[in-house]
Amino acid sequence: MFNSLSDRLTATFKNLRGKGRLSEADVDATVREIRRALLDADVAVSVVREFTSRIRERALGAEVSGALNPSQQIVKIVNEELVEILGGETRRIRLAKTGPTIIMLAGLQGAGKTTLAGKLSKWLKAQGHSPMLVACDLQRPNAVTQLQVVGQRAGVPVFAPHPGATSELDHPAGDPVAVASAGVEEARQKLHDVVIVDTAGRLGVDAEMMDQARRIRQAIIPNEVLFVIDSMIGQDAVNTAMAFDEGVNFTGIVLSKLDGDARGGAALSVASVTGKPVMFASTGEGLDDFELFHPDRMASRILD
Ligand code: GDP
Repeated sequence: MFNSLSDRLTATFKNLRGKGRLSEADVDATVREIRRALLDADVAVSVVREFTSRIRERALGAEVSGALNPSQQIVKIVNEELVEILGGETRRIRLAKTGPTIIMLAGLQGAGKTTLAGKLSKWLKAQGHSPMLVACDLQRPNAVTQLQVVGQRAGVPVFAPHPGATSELDHPAGDPVAVASAGVEEARQKLHDVVIVDTAGRLGVDAEMMDQARRIRQAIIPNEVLFVIDSMIGQDAVNTAMAFDEGVNFTGIVLSKLDGDARGGAALSVASVTGKPVMFASTGEGLDDFELFHPDRMASRILD
């Protein structure tokens, strides 16, 4: 991921080496190359436009500093702008002051939510937390079982609805909102300090699914709502992210499938159009293929 973008940008900056001072034409040519590289990496057109116009403005206005040559100066500007788009400082989970920290997962079907629930819970457990998972994806056949399997592998308990239950307190089977509330209540009673609520997705954005996610959000008042997005979805990423942001007002982004051959555009576009930080990266099917996202490290990797 980002390999091709990274190669293209590096080659562009190489062309500037040895130049004593950048003319406006030099800056324009460089910005044009950056624009092409970003578009080829599937970054949304609106994002590319805004990004490159900021680079151009800053590059033209940049003081010629003694320490940096012009090519280093542009690399520094691009680096800073990339970090900014990706969320600035590394953003950690906001823990609740009292009671369990409630983390809700949202995203399209197949985005990697259930897998993430396992990864995140294992990661939190390794840091001394006592997480619990709640299975609210009652739409997809097997989603509950899949979460139970993931929970077992992570060594984390899973709250799941009972098919025969009749009362709300007895793990109601049909209503994801009631399951979410009952799950959070159970976590509270059993003194878990983190509860991760997996929700249903659809193949595309769908009003009913969004309404359900919104109702779950209202019922459990999460500390974090993580929007999980498949990095491979390319140009569709922007519309999907905006629909979820409007629907559930998520607080952070998780980029999944970063191990694939995605060109990386989705990552930059989603963070830019929503202004929300990328918090985690999922990099494989295994439970340990997961990391806290550091915008500065990712920017450096792209510009390496
Ligand atoms: P959900 O529908 O959003 O809950 O998505 P799942 O967690 O079921 O994931 C859908 C598919 O993507 C499964 O086959 C996962 O094994 C796979 N998957 C999830 N995360 C990753 C990842 O980071 N990398 C790769 N290569 N596959 C992933």
